[in-house]
Amino acid sequence: MTILHWSAIAAWAIAAIIWVEVIRDLYHVLAHIWPPLTRLHNWHHRVFRPDLTPTSALIYRQAQWYNDVPESCVMIAFSLALWGLAWSVTPEVAWGCSAGVLYSLVFLLSAMARGMGWAWAHDLTDVTHLPGPFPTPPSRWWVNRPYHWRHHFENQNAYFCSTLTVVDQLMGTALSLKGKTIAVTGASGTLGQALLGQLQANGAKVIALTSGHQPIELNGQEIPSQRWQVGEEAALAETFANVDILVINHGINVHGDRSPDAIDQSYQVNAFSAWRLMEAFLETVDGDRDRVRKELWVNTSEAEVNPAFSPLYELSKRTLGDLVTLRRLDSPCIIRKLILGPFKSNLNPVGVMSGDRVAAKIVKLAQRDVRNIIVTINPITWVLHPLKELTVSLYFRWLTRPYPVTEICANQDISSES
Ligand SMILES: [Zn+2]
Ligand SMILES: [Zn+2]
Repeated sequence: MTILHWSAIAAWAIAAIIWVEVIRDLYHVLAHIWPPLTRLHNWHHRVFRPDLTPTSALIYRQAQWYNDVPESCVMIAFSLALWGLAWSVTPEVAWGCSAGVLYSLVFLLSAMARGMGWAWAHDLTDVTHLPGPFPTPPSRWWVNRPYHWRHHFENQNAYFCSTLTVVDQLMGTALSLKGKTIAVTGASGTLGQALLGQLQANGAKVIALTSGHQPIELNGQEIPSQRWQVGEEAALAETFANVDILVINHGINVHGDRSPDAIDQSYQVNAFSAWRLMEAFLETVDGDRDRVRKELWVNTSEAEVNPAFSPLYELSKRTLGDLVTLRRLDSPCIIRKLILGPFKSNLNPVGVMSGDRVAAKIVKLAQRDVRNIIVTINPITWVLHPLKELTVSLYFRWLTRPYPVTEICANQDISSES
């Protein structure tokens, strides 16, 4: 057999495993929509307390027979169907698809072992439901415990995935904004207003953080707002304690001014006040529930990698971008960057994109759990930003020491909250 032959077999094997994972996640979605399946799946949702200990050994075992075993059978059936399809296309290499059948069979056998009440099966094979503190925030590509916890205790109509997060990413259910308290700085600006509107439309409770005196309105209704000034970031700490997502979006553009004052203002507003807000917010991430639920979104702008035709805007925004990259290395919660191209606003009257469309896109991409949210018409940003983020992040990681993250407190925190 040639290398080509073996590669084709391996390709079918990998495709078969991804296929059954997708089937499992779609089956799970269906179980939340179609009543006959919902009845079976409810057993799974009845099992766990918020600290992920089973409410009763009997319910845990029954949930395996009613939910996990049928789910594995569906996976086996669909893996056989794929094998059949592969056989009709490329008969000599189709047996690579047996990997999908074997993989599903392992799930069936472990579900049965858990159904028998064998403790080792729970510890070894039910990894997303193991109790214990969460050492990291929800992960991006693989479902970890904090990721799946949100499906049980945050929003059962999101976070459907079991192993790979692809289905949630495609469906926009990889982040739920429903019921979350989201504060936005720069709330009186074009993008700030548009973001508040989009976030509210997606079920969030919004708070406007603004330095202006005008009340902030959405659809003719005044929304809760808090005044703050650059330099007074610490005063927002109390508000941040009850905020799930902080969007740092304020900024200043001094355009052609290159006076010492302009330099000072650009760095104070665009870089240092944003950084101080970040720190004040990260201070409030305390315990498992916060690590899972809280997020920081920072508008660093496309100026991170491209000219913005305003040198001090670029310099200060690049500083902010680098500070976010550095701080991400030890962050106790998810930090997203908003890397935006020129949209029409008071800061940039010649911008080409509309603020509303940019805001809608940002929210869509966040719901797909994109961590570096790029919205621009400039294709160079799509190439340069990922490269810059990766290389700068590695450089910072190699040349700096980890900053001790506060003691991971036990998950009593979670059980008392929900
Ligand atoms: Zn579960
Ligand atoms: Zn479910």
